[in-house]
Amino acid sequence: MRHAIVQKFGGTSVGTAEAVRRVGAIVASARERHPFVVVSAVGGITNRLLALGEAAVAGGDVRAHVSDIAEIHRRILTDLVLPVDTCALWLDELDSLARGIALLGERSPRTTDRLASLGERMSARIVAAHLVSLGLGAYPIDAWDAGLETDARFGRARPLPSVDLRIRTAAALSEGIPVATGFLGREPDGAITTLGRGGSDYSAAIFGAALGVEEIQIWTDVSGVLTADPRQVKSARPVPVLSFAEAAELAFFGAKVLHPATMAPAVRAGIPIRVLNTWKPDEPGTRVVAVLGAHERGVKSIATKHRIAAVNVVASEMMFQYGFLERIANAFARHEVVVDVIATSEVSVALTVESGADLGPVVAELGTFSDVSVVPDLALVSVVGEALRDGLAVQARIFGTLAELGVRAEMASYGATRNNLSLVIPAERAAEVVEALHERLFTRG
Ligand code: ADP
Ligand code: ASP
Ligand code: MG
Repeated sequence: MRHAIVQKFGGTSVGTAEAVRRVGAIVASARERHPFVVVSAVGGITNRLLALGEAAVAGGDVRAHVSDIAEIHRRILTDLVLPVDTCALWLDELDSLARGIALLGERSPRTTDRLASLGERMSARIVAAHLVSLGLGAYPIDAWDAGLETDARFGRARPLPSVDLRIRTAAALSEGIPVATGFLGREPDGAITTLGRGGSDYSAAIFGAALGVEEIQIWTDVSGVLTADPRQVKSARPVPVLSFAEAAELAFFGAKVLHPATMAPAVRAGIPIRVLNTWKPDEPGTRVVAVLGAHERGVKSIATKHRIAAVNVVASEMMFQYGFLERIANAFARHEVVVDVIATSEVSVALTVESGADLGPVVAELGTFSDVSVVPDLALVSVVGEALRDGLAVQARIFGTLAELGVRAEMASYGATRNNLSLVIPAERAAEVVEALHERLFTRG
């Protein structure tokens, strides 16, 4: 089957029977374009599955967790008038896995991925069953059966180079509307992997790029990528168009609406992405395209990472030697800790990382050749837009806003692409800074 679009539906878009009905209507209206559908787990289920895993290890009672998860799925099925045993196979697997983890008192990353996979494996069955009830000739498919093979980095797996061919082959052999599990893959030895939290957007882009579709649609609970996180800034409004570079910066710097890896496959295949609202399907949403027209450049959005830490590395005897930066970078790379912003001086380097990162091994390694200190409770506020490249006025406005509020930036970085200006500030000032920046950059004339 030749698919012209990928349609990905996020957790809230499949979170209730009413939402699934909307999904049905959206897919039905695109049927001429033979959609390839990708779904997330029912909203909140991935969190619940992971919490269940933790409770099982801690020796807590997991039965309540299992029955809550079962009940949420049964409720949606009942409300959709679908057979209540549609998810029975996976709920049985959940029950066995939970018992197994509780018995052993431990779980490996591999087991955690298997547990987390159950959300998408069930939601794909529910959505496919609903589409079938509408007469749409849909079928559920696990990501691996659709060709998504990954490496074995559980919890943050990446597709293998062979995926494009595998995905195309799988699609060529099938008829109808596939409803594929987002977020998941399988490594060559056959174990289930996950692509990282929020990874269903990435799945959609991987499938879309392999299939050479015309558009990758990301259906969510807001009307596109907004000028700021709407939970933070009430007056945030949709951005009509973003370049791939802008969207990638926004996602990397914390805008949850798109998973940071999503843009790479789309860029490679030159396929536009559109972010749309399942609850307001007629709104135009946000287009993400390769190149912006002259009138489409501007300051686009503000992203925030609320909890970051800075790692300050001061050279001791390594001072003035070549290779100091390289040794620092290697330490972060070896322990797989992602660095957001870097600032250097002659004898010191400051790097920011997400607060959740496991810094212990990095700090130990850095400590063998430098003095290291970690500053917690910082936030990273990033203003994104290609206009920053030539916009002295925009930069002045950003720093002027900080000055007005009396907030001192601990670090500032103007990324190499010149598409973003990132500021490291005390975490407790982040909310007012973002509000004020939004007001100055998007609301006032
Ligand atoms: P889904 O389950 O559909 O993938 P997510 O919760 O992962 O949905 O992403 C959508 C949410 O991202 C929105 O509801 C919003 O709260 C949050 N968000 C953060 N920053 C932005 C932004 N700049 N534009 C739109 N949404 C944003
Ligand atoms: N269900 C997964 C998560 O919650 C993937 C996704 O929603 O994109 O992280
Ligand atoms: Mg998401």
